[in-house]
Amino acid sequence: MATPVNPFKMAQHQFDEVAEQLQLADNIRQVLRWPLREFHFQIPIQMDDGTMQCFRGYRVQHNDASGPSKGGIRFHPAETIDTVRALATWMTWKCAVADIPLGGGKGGVIVDPAGLSDAEKQRLCRGWIDQMWRNIGPRLDVPAPDVGTTAQMMGWMMDEYSKLIGQFTPGVITGKPLGGGGSKGRTEATGFGVVVTIREAAKRLGLDPAKCTASLQGFGNVSQYASKFFIEMLGGTVVAVSCWDRQDKTSYTFSKDDGLDPTFLMSITDQYGTIDKGKARDAAIKIEDSNAWMEKDVDVLIPAAIEGVVTKETVSLIKPTVKILAEGANGPCTPEADEVFKNSDIYVIPDFLCNAGGVVCSYFEGVQNDMNYYWELDEVIDKLDKKLTNAFQSVHEMAEMSSVYNRNAAYMVAIDRVVRAMQLRGWI
Ligand code: NAD
Repeated sequence: MATPVNPFKMAQHQFDEVAEQLQLADNIRQVLRWPLREFHFQIPIQMDDGTMQCFRGYRVQHNDASGPSKGGIRFHPAETIDTVRALATWMTWKCAVADIPLGGGKGGVIVDPAGLSDAEKQRLCRGWIDQMWRNIGPRLDVPAPDVGTTAQMMGWMMDEYSKLIGQFTPGVITGKPLGGGGSKGRTEATGFGVVVTIREAAKRLGLDPAKCTASLQGFGNVSQYASKFFIEMLGGTVVAVSCWDRQDKTSYTFSKDDGLDPTFLMSITDQYGTIDKGKARDAAIKIEDSNAWMEKDVDVLIPAAIEGVVTKETVSLIKPTVKILAEGANGPCTPEADEVFKNSDIYVIPDFLCNAGGVVCSYFEGVQNDMNYYWELDEVIDKLDKKLTNAFQSVHEMAEMSSVYNRNAAYMVAIDRVVRAMQLRGWI
């Protein structure tokens, strides 16, 4: 049985290793190892049957030296404060590596949103804002959607905040619906960014992406668009995806050796990223066990579901055909798995570089909200591509120049920028 992974310990372990390599001063390490601020609160809401229920909520602001904290809000039954801390920390590094003027934050609620009606979800979203509105804002901390939350929920949260402060304030939250202050391209941005980084990695490795196959974990927002763009932009083939089945309380892999059609799969997937097994079988898609996605003979592996899945135990399942491991999810590989990758030929694209497309587009959304002027899709996509290509280039160059593992190189780029921002503000 694998030991459960504490994501915050993982985030601190990754930071400590690079802090040591960089010989960072102790005072700087102290500031960056822990979040600057944390909010823990209860959200009482009335359920449809008239009873009251209390949900546990969190917001963590890890570092805001470079600008307002930025990061999603998760609604998940297994949410923990350490998961939120880890994700907030990774947001600091993600914004820094993408070179956008924002800091790191994350929020969460311990709840299974699938068990709530739309009216209950709306009351929970408004309740989260009622607890947090004094400590968020366009110049303070800007939340966004994440696992278990949607654009509609962001719309309700923005409305609640605007009512409380008495001013229409779309810039308080990003990932809003189109027409409600959202940006074109936000829905597909993270998956698009994953594919931009794979394209850049393939170039450096001399691979023809059109001849590459990929297998993904998850079939939610990130994985759906990463699969779609892997085929449409690069001409590659997606042979497997996986998802969590809420009814069976386990996960399955859906595969087809000659290639899956993500658009069809999306049509048989519910809003929580669960694929309909019956309809998949009818379309001659093979259904395999949870880890089968990791054991495929593919060129590119894309864990894009949850943290801590590639571990000391599971890393040996990865086939020697794999040349690129693109971390669509946050924290999918444990430090023990990293030790294996450091001594292998697999090119790892670290999470906070690989999945930065979402936050870069969220930054664009905030800029558009500030101007009250909205860009066309091609303008958003073009700007996104440039930002991510530049971010990839800085990390790749750092890895080459310092002869370090890609994740450490990404940390070096990010830590350098955050430390400079703290110095400029006189914090250290
Ligand atoms: P989502 O809720 O839309 O989808 C999650 C998918 O993962 C679903 O298909 C679900 O069934 C599947 N899943 C959950 N547990 C699983 C398991 N044990 N095995 C296999 N599949 C499982 O979430 P998302 O927005 O796609 O986010 C996925 C990951 O990417 C998370 O780590 C998230 O923090 C990260 N991320 C998301 C964004 C974004 O913009 N959505 C941005 C950056 C990072």
